[in-house]
Amino acid sequence: MCNRKRLIFVTHNLGIVAKMCDRMAVMYAGKIVEQGAVRDLFRAPKHPYTQALLGSMPKLGSKEPLYAIPGHPPNLAQLPSGCAFHPRCAHAMPQCVTRDPDDHRVGPNCKMLALGSANTGGICQRHCLSCRI
Ligand code: SF4
Repeated sequence: MCNRKRLIFVTHNLGIVAKMCDRMAVMYAGKIVEQGAVRDLFRAPKHPYTQALLGSMPKLGSKEPLYAIPGHPPNLAQLPSGCAFHPRCAHAMPQCVTRDPDDHRVGPNCKMLALGSANTGGICQRHCLSCRI
């Protein structure tokens, strides 16, 4: 019998995630957009939403104004076309409005939703290129 216990935290508090969790899945508009080991996602987030989320965390002692992701969370009953994050994404391109992102492996234990990949020259190439495989 396995004695290992598993807990799933659903939270917006990334400090708790950093302290308590081994793995992390970042969701946007009801979909997992990036998942992997907590230390990997905190050190080198690949998906623009993960990057923006981590960039909006307060830093102790910093006098910099807090970064805020532009726009508003989408209406889940009327999601934007293509990538649901495109109206708020700093890296959005015209294809993001019409194409649905796919799952891509970006590390031994990490996946993210993106259009194309480093191998196919897709439009999320700039994120996938930082992959450490
Ligand atoms: S698919 Fe486009 S809009 Fe969505 S996260 Fe990637 S670059 Fe941004």
